[in-house]
Amino acid sequence: MANDAVKSEHLLQVQELKKYYPVRGGFLRRKVGDVKAVDNISLELKRGETFGLVGESGCGKSTAGRTITRLFKPTAGKIFFEGRDITSLRGSELRDLRQDIQMVFQDPFASLNPKMMVGSIVSEPLINYGKGSESKLKEEVMNLLSRVGLPEDAYYKYPHEFSGGQRQRIGIARALALKPKLIVADEPVSALDVSVQSQVLNLLKELQQEFNLTLLFIAHDLSVVKHMSDRIGVMYLGNLVEVADAQDIYADPKHPYTQALISAIPQPDPRNKSKRIILSGDVPSPQNPPTGCPFHPRCPKAMPECSDKKPQLREVNRDHRVSCLLYE
Ligand code: SF4
Repeated sequence: MANDAVKSEHLLQVQELKKYYPVRGGFLRRKVGDVKAVDNISLELKRGETFGLVGESGCGKSTAGRTITRLFKPTAGKIFFEGRDITSLRGSELRDLRQDIQMVFQDPFASLNPKMMVGSIVSEPLINYGKGSESKLKEEVMNLLSRVGLPEDAYYKYPHEFSGGQRQRIGIARALALKPKLIVADEPVSALDVSVQSQVLNLLKELQQEFNLTLLFIAHDLSVVKHMSDRIGVMYLGNLVEVADAQDIYADPKHPYTQALISAIPQPDPRNKSKRIILSGDVPSPQNPPTGCPFHPRCPKAMPECSDKKPQLREVNRDHRVSCLLYE
């Protein structure tokens, strides 16, 4: 019974998830290696929370999001949604799952069919899944468009007639149409002007409350994630290196990579200025990751053993997990 109670707190559980892409070479195009885009991540999402997944471009966070939603097939590991193993779902079972898990993409223009009117774009998922009667469909879509802050006549317009922020609102309305339980938002504001970003973020926050949503919020910008998230996971080179409550991670970052990311956030009050940690070198290729700790070639605190031994994600404080040999 106790175990069941713990399970039901989590909407999503990801265990040792891997997503590798084969690298082929030579005349016969034989497999010569793997790009380890996601290399063994484990995390849980509590019902109703926002989990921010953050890291530099190319760290594997978008691949992780798409693998968790089962847009990509995992190479290894397990994904549980509401306690059910969804790792290997296919066909109609996978199609049914899509009603509960939806995505909002970075580039709203690329993800909206330019030849369809907005009314059709938003009603398409409802029609595909046979939801709502025909007579009520238009009313329902109108309500959704109004809820995301679009004007009434948006129904009859095409995506190119809207600004970037409005197009993202269309994408959000479409994602909400089936009343999903989980939304994976992959860099939903990074293609938008800074002035519009906060409006879209505030809308997402309001909708989360109203629709009782759980959000996996993927971003490269820690300051954006901070305002959205209850908990944060930091990714580096396909690995989760730190997971904690948002407040803890900003107040007391443990991993040297997180410390460097946080030191780079501009401070509005110059008196709070802490010394910026500049990392040397570039992120190594996920095709040929370093041995030992994946961060060791760039880590200002690296020790001799860091190049041999791979640290595990361990709890160092309550609900604060870190993958670093300094804490083992
Ligand atoms: Fe740095 Fe070593 Fe910790 Fe890796 S394990 S983050 S290299 S101190």
